[in-house]
Amino acid sequence: MDNAQPNSLVKAGGLSSDPTAFLFNDQQLGLYRQHLEKGLALVEKRLTATAKPFSGKTPRALAKAFSKLDLNTPLSDVNAALTELEQLYLDDAVYFHHRHYVAHLNCPVVVPSLLAELILSALNTSVDTWDQSGGATFIEQSLVDWTAKRIGFDQDADGIFTSGGTQSNLMAMLLARDNACQQYFGHNVREHGLPPEAKRLQIFCSELSHFSIQKAAALLGLGYDAVVAVPCDRHFAMDIAALNTALEAAKAAGKLPMAVVATAGTTDFGSIDPIAKVAKVAKEVGAWCHVDAAYGCGLLVSSKQRWRLSGIELADSVTVDYHKAFFQPVSCSALLVKNKAHLSVVTWHADYLNPLSQRQEGTPNLVDKSLQTTRRFDALKLWLTLRIMGADAIGQGFEAAMLLARRTYLLLLSEPDIEVLHQPQLSAVVFRFRPAGLVGDWDRLNKAIRQAVMASGQAMIAATQVKGRQYLKFTLLNPATTISDMQGVVEMIKQQGQRLLAQFSEHHNLEEVAHG
Ligand SMILES: *Cc1c(COP(=O)(O)O)cnc(C)c1O
Repeated sequence: MDNAQPNSLVKAGGLSSDPTAFLFNDQQLGLYRQHLEKGLALVEKRLTATAKPFSGKTPRALAKAFSKLDLNTPLSDVNAALTELEQLYLDDAVYFHHRHYVAHLNCPVVVPSLLAELILSALNTSVDTWDQSGGATFIEQSLVDWTAKRIGFDQDADGIFTSGGTQSNLMAMLLARDNACQQYFGHNVREHGLPPEAKRLQIFCSELSHFSIQKAAALLGLGYDAVVAVPCDRHFAMDIAALNTALEAAKAAGKLPMAVVATAGTTDFGSIDPIAKVAKVAKEVGAWCHVDAAYGCGLLVSSKQRWRLSGIELADSVTVDYHKAFFQPVSCSALLVKNKAHLSVVTWHADYLNPLSQRQEGTPNLVDKSLQTTRRFDALKLWLTLRIMGADAIGQGFEAAMLLARRTYLLLLSEPDIEVLHQPQLSAVVFRFRPAGLVGDWDRLNKAIRQAVMASGQAMIAATQVKGRQYLKFTLLNPATTISDMQGVVEMIKQQGQRLLAQFSEHHNLEEVAHG
């Protein structure tokens, strides 16, 4: 410390900088409760005060408020800090619970999961080793086993909670890579690094699979070049004939199939690849079969529609994102594997942490099968959700979102100025504003519509490109959103569309409109 004078311990603003005054422990339960109550009051205030999912503020406008902050000097007290926070964050946050938030794969969260967040952050459990978690380790393991059973895996299965689908997919590709190098070249990558022949390995996934597969290939030393994008059929699901063609071409070129990835719920369309067929082909060519069910995992708890994941039990690994389809707060995700032996790829026995002797004694250390070391006890959120609400309630919530997507699709079909691209498989609908009989730059117009809706803050919708064309997208994950909410959102889109169209013909230049 460069300034050790005693008066430097007390700040002018009145906040004591004695850290023990703020430590969470049995002496500070009053302070803990006080902070929580203030936080709760703030959340309550925001949720009742605003009727919109977003303020519509631009990043440039908000950035100004951040430019003059002095983070070296604390504010006078918690009230001042929360007042500031309201202006810097809550006023312009994006509210996923709002019924007009229909943009990305963000779900509203259930209250039992928030209760879990409160407990797990207070105790600050880390589920890496038994001696940092105790019973928490068994809670996570029970949920891994429960999910594996829902998938249809047997006793040999295992898994681990991760930070999200990206990490789950990375880990799946890591296991697939090391397995392939062992199988094809008798080479242990963990010990010796990549062999030169690794250049021959390829990953096959649909052209609509998530970009985290490409990222994984890059991180694993294979490069984007190793990923073969297999064309989809007209339902946006992987075309099996095209997969076979791609595999044959690879073979002819001296390449080796490392993994075949089936996406159960593509991010844009919610389309589901033919899982059983993909798994069969993967098996025939000796490749690892991974199912990315980051989005479609909600079907695992749907009694009515579970069948749409049939074949998932044939996979070698499965990604599930509870923070997308199970109404859980970020982060809450897992990777499940059919054969637990493969998880040893990420095992490292550190003398100080998880010595081999502990494993031999039967002490469960989840870090033995995790990429992360210190790790949040995210499993508690799913645990309290299942114990308070039950799995069926979650499944019904996901079913409600799917039904809403179906109704929204029918609504869009009935709109003459809207062109719908597909029938929703899960709860995403892709469409565009395109009045018949007119010519124009529809790409620019739809981009401008999305921007205008977002700037109004009345609704949040998404956008995507399909074969180079600009589309709009709804991702519906809120069981409280009704079809009349969606009628309102569609009305907004049409109004903005007509308004922009009028400006367009006035100026004969849509570019001006989009940027004006
Ligand atoms: C969202 C998504 C991912 C990535 O998951 P994160 O939790 O965002 O890391 C992977 N695959 C699919 C199909 C997704 O929709």
